[in-house]
Amino acid sequence: MSKDILNRYLFDNADVRGQVVQLEKSYQDVLSAHSYPVAIQRLLGELMAATSLLTATLKFDGDISVQVQGNGPVSLAVINGNNLQQLRGVSRWEGDIAADADLASLMGKGYMVITLTPTNGERYQGVVELDKPTLAECLEQYFIQSEQLPTTIRLFANGQQAAGILLQVLPGENEQNDAYEHLEQLTVTIKAEELFKLEATEVLHRLYHQEAVRLFDPIEVTFNCTCSRERSLQALRTIPQEELEAILAEQGKIDMGCEYCNSNYSFDSIDIAALFKNASSTDTPQ
Ligand SMILES: [Zn+2]
Repeated sequence: MSKDILNRYLFDNADVRGQVVQLEKSYQDVLSAHSYPVAIQRLLGELMAATSLLTATLKFDGDISVQVQGNGPVSLAVINGNNLQQLRGVSRWEGDIAADADLASLMGKGYMVITLTPTNGERYQGVVELDKPTLAECLEQYFIQSEQLPTTIRLFANGQQAAGILLQVLPGENEQNDAYEHLEQLTVTIKAEELFKLEATEVLHRLYHQEAVRLFDPIEVTFNCTCSRERSLQALRTIPQEELEAILAEQGKIDMGCEYCNSNYSFDSIDIAALFKNASSTDTPQ
């Protein structure tokens, strides 16, 4: 079975939708770029599951970023994704981090910033404080604030697998209803091991065996870094040519690393000369 899948479902007898996401390879790909402390591995896994679930609730084409930042040992953890469920992520931290560190001890006082950048349309940014014990509860708060939709979320990650489940009142059915409360009580009985081990159909059967549930076609979730040699080269344009030439004189080449996937792009004096030659010919049309 492929573990990197998102499943969406609806209930025939309630205006409520649900999603289950289960990640393994894509999660390992994100973790492989750095030797992260165990607690940050969990944080990144929960953040990946959260980003996938959040993306699936949106009808949009474009990019999404879910970022947590704070004044604790972890200054930043971010997952970038898009409507195709392609994800990448990175975290920055300082010092030793206890394996059992919770959200508050990782992040200190912090925020979750959710940025939606549609291919066509205006950029949207939502911010919630990281003032709840778990990332899942902070994300629930985001849905209350931004969409006024009652939403229940559970997120799990153990360094090997990451998973999450989301239950939400359908847009347009904003009133808290009995059917939702009943389904919520069933949903929160889910255990990490169940989401890690069981197929989505089995998960749904365990949770809602007395309900009529309609499961949609699964969507694949993949790790995908958008870096490239060309993008890295273009980024060098913002640095004065003399500075780049000074580095070249000293080191013989300029290395640009991608912190998301650890790719390294190396440029020599010919690359840099061509970059500025092209830049001057395109920037100053004759
Ligand atoms: Zn990359």
